This record gives sequence, structure tokens and C-alpha cells, in this order.
Amino acid sequence: MQVRDRLFIGGEWVAPAGGDVIDVVSPASEQVMGRVPAGTPADVDRAVAAARAAFDAGPWARTTPAERADVIDRVAEVLDRRKDELAALITAEMGSTALFSQFVQVPAPISTLRSYARLARTFAFEEERGSRARSLVVHEPVGVVAAIVPWNTPLLVTMSKVAPALAAGCTMVLKPSPEAPLDAFVLAEACQEAGLPPGVLNVVPGGRSAGEHLVTHRDVDKVAFTGSTAVGRRIAALCADRLARVSLELGGKSAAIVLDDAPLDRTVRGLLGLSYVNSGQACVAQTRVLVSRDRHDEFVDAFVEGTRGLQVGDPTDTATAIGPLVSARQRGRVESYLTLGQQEGAKAVTGGGRPEGQSCGWYVEPTVFTGVDNGMRIAREEIFGPVVAVIAYDDPDDAVAIANDSDYGLAGSVWTSDVDTGVEIARRVRTGTYSVNGAAQASSAPFGGFKQSGLGREFGPEGLRSYLEVKSIAVPGERRPS
Ligand code: NAD
Repeated sequence: MQVRDRLFIGGEWVAPAGGDVIDVVSPASEQVMGRVPAGTPADVDRAVAAARAAFDAGPWARTTPAERADVIDRVAEVLDRRKDELAALITAEMGSTALFSQFVQVPAPISTLRSYARLARTFAFEEERGSRARSLVVHEPVGVVAAIVPWNTPLLVTMSKVAPALAAGCTMVLKPSPEAPLDAFVLAEACQEAGLPPGVLNVVPGGRSAGEHLVTHRDVDKVAFTGSTAVGRRIAALCADRLARVSLELGGKSAAIVLDDAPLDRTVRGLLGLSYVNSGQACVAQTRVLVSRDRHDEFVDAFVEGTRGLQVGDPTDTATAIGPLVSARQRGRVESYLTLGQQEGAKAVTGGGRPEGQSCGWYVEPTVFTGVDNGMRIAREEIFGPVVAVIAYDDPDDAVAIANDSDYGLAGSVWTSDVDTGVEIARRVRTGTYSVNGAAQASSAPFGGFKQSGLGREFGPEGLRSYLEVKSIAVPGERRPS
């Protein structure tokens, strides 16, 4: 049992203002495995005041980018030293499989930190423009950032905000989700050990009311949010009131287009990984699989066989491919879509319920629906569980039209033996990221959504820019900018 009874504010571990706590329940054992303070509006006020003071009075915002890069590298070193502990913690708090925790949940945030340390050292924070009329164009930190994150990839999503915000010279208040708040405490310890000045990072776990208090706080300059589209819309509306900067990474309903020339085995193997990633609890999961009518049955047979071969169960077992869903509520939500799919006329050709033999844990069988029309709700709404809808298309133009017929635009993939054809398809699909044959993105490639999948981009220089304000200083001719 991991008990944290203090909040990290102003560089110190302080007692929370109230006595309420958040119990963190293991999705596998359904037992309470951790406890953290439930942040109140008074805690949020204190954390924002610490971040504001650290920003306004320094020294962080006035350090050189190279100095900030050194601190960021030291945070990465501490997390790297604690990587096994962190991977086990994330599996325990939100149920992702041991393999996913060891190979993604922990290493990806560490490499994100390191890539922002490198970028801080090379980014042109200042440049001179013009000749007769001359301006110094200066990129300054946006100020105090509120970072609000979900539970599914808690440390990675946190780092997609914390790393660029640190590189930019911002200070911040991080509000982890109530479901998976524990890894944020390890991050706070790492920042403390790395010598991050007090008040630069503050951590206050909490739910909706703490979140709204943070979003509407007048001393917060920017809100960086990852979560559901419904909450993102609400946050954008709250930010609009005072025109606070806001970036939103929201939901998805990504389509994989399997072209007729795609080799079956490799495509099925790749799609099993991308569709059921993190037990389906991933914003980029390929949950609509588009297959031509000619190859539909052949593909479905192979995909169903692959799905049945996935081990469902104990997330700490390295042979497990599908762990439990994060909460009883999330399982209930996924199960309601399993029922809805049948009501809409789709057929669950494998899965469709709870796996046999699991007496506890919030498990759902990986499920493949066929007979799906893109107008059905199971094809339009984000389910956030291991549920795939296979949709038949007439020709590649029809496939692109189906892929684009979505309120979302986060990710997608095309599967083909001809990479050039794949890239042509990629250019026609309106999403922020796309993959040919399941290729991984470069770590410096921007990530974000078209349409209702979000606003703004994270990672790479685009991610850094969203933590910077741009100022143009006109300089008289007699003085050259330094
Ligand atoms: P959620 O929207 O319910 O909550 C996300 C965070 O917002 C949590 O910390 C929550 O406490 C907080 N919150 C809830 N209501 C709030 C409010 N009114 N004001 C301020 N904060 C509030 O999402 P979730 O269930 O935690 O996570 C799943 C969702 O996250 C999925 O929709 C998924 O697609 C999305 N997601 C998106 C990305 C991406 O990068 N696009 C990555 C991961 C997850």
C-alpha cells in the first residue's frame, strides 16, 4: 500500500488543507493499493501562488536554456534510476500490462525529457529580423501552466507537458487524475533531487472540482489538457472567458485502412498491437479497421484468430497482452458499447463479454465486431476498451471517405506492400498523425488532433512553441541587438 499524505507545493512536502483522500484501487485485485490527499480549492490556490511566485520572482524563467536543459537531464537520470519501481507502480495503479509499462509507460517519458533537454540547447529562442527596420524576435515562457492529465498513460502524458514547459522556462501546477496519481509523486521527488527550484513544479491530485478551480484560476496563464473530448470542450469554454492559452489532446476513433496488397500476416500482427494497445485504453488505438469487401472474410478470420490468441489476465505477468480496464466504471462503459453494438445490428465474432475464469479484476474480452456500418455509434464514439469494429469498403476512395467520416482526427494507419501508395493515402486522411504499415513516429514528430481530437500539438519543436509567447522588440538602427 502506497500512502502519500503530503502535497508537493513550493518545493516542499506540505500538509493538504483538507482531510479528504483519494483511494487508488488496483484494477486487477480490486483492492485499495494507494492513497493520496484529495486536493481542495485551497490547495490549488496555494500551488498556483507558489508557481506564480517562482515564475515572477525567478530564478527559473531567467535561467539560460542550457541551464534548464541540465536540470531536465538530471530529472531524466533520476527517473531512469527508478524505472523498474515506476513501471511496477503504473501497472499497479492503472492496470497496464508489465510489458507496456516497461517498454512504453516509463521509457517514453524519460526519452521525452531528454529530447527536450537537447531541444532547449539548440532552439532559436531569439532571432533578429529585418534590415532597415530591425526587430528582435524573442520567445518567452508563457508563464504559469496548469497541466491536467488522464490515467491511461499517466507519466507519458504528464511529460508531454512538463518537459516542454520546463524547457521553455514555465512554472506549473500538475493535476494528476484521481485514478492514477501515484507516479506524479515520484516525478516530484525526481524534480526535487534534480535541483529544480522550488515552485517550478507543484503537484495537487484531485477530480473535477479541483480541476475546474485550477482551470479558472486568474494566475494561470495556460492550460494544457489531455483527456476526453467532453471535458476538453468544457475546459476550452472556461479558458475562453479570460482568453487563457489552452492546448487540448482529446479522444480518437482512428481508422486503419487495409489495402488489398497488404500482406495478411504482417498486417494482422501489426494491427493486433495497434488496436489493443494498452488494453484498448489509448487515444490512438486503431479501433475502426477498414477492409475491402473482397478480402473481408479472409482478414476477419485471421484477425479473430489473432485476437483469441491474446492472453487476458494478470497485468504483472509478462505474457499478458490484455490487462484489466482501469475501473469498474470504465468496464461498465465498455460493456454498454458491447450491448449497443449488438442492438445496432453488428455481430461480435469474438469476445463480447467478460473472460471466463477471472474472479476479480475489471476485465473485458477483446472483441471484434463485424457487419459494422460507419454510421453506428460503435463506429463513431470512442469506447476506450479492447473493442474493434471491422468495416467493409468498396475501393480505396471509399476507404478514405469512411476514415474521414468521423468527428475525430487523431491517428490512423494504412497497410500496403507499396509505401508510396501508403503515403498518398496518408495525405488524404484528415488526422494529426498517421502511420504506414504501423511504423513508429520519430520522437521529435508533433502529436495532436484534427477536428474534435484537439487543439495544438505536443512533442518536438511544435510542443515547445505552445509554451512560449512571442515578443517582437523593435530596435533602433544605431543599436544592434545582442
Ligand atoms: P477525463 O476527460 O475524464 O479526465 C481527464 C482529466 O481531467 C482528469 O485528471 C480529470 O480529473 C480532469 N477533469 C475532469 N473534469 C474536469 C473539469 N471539468 N475541469 C478540469 N479538469 C477535469 O478523461 P479520462 O477518463 O481520465 O481519460 C480518458 C480520455 O483521455 C479518453 O477520451 C482519451 O482519448 C483521452 N486521451 C487523449 C490523449 C491524447 O493525447 N489525445 C492521450 C490520452 C488520453
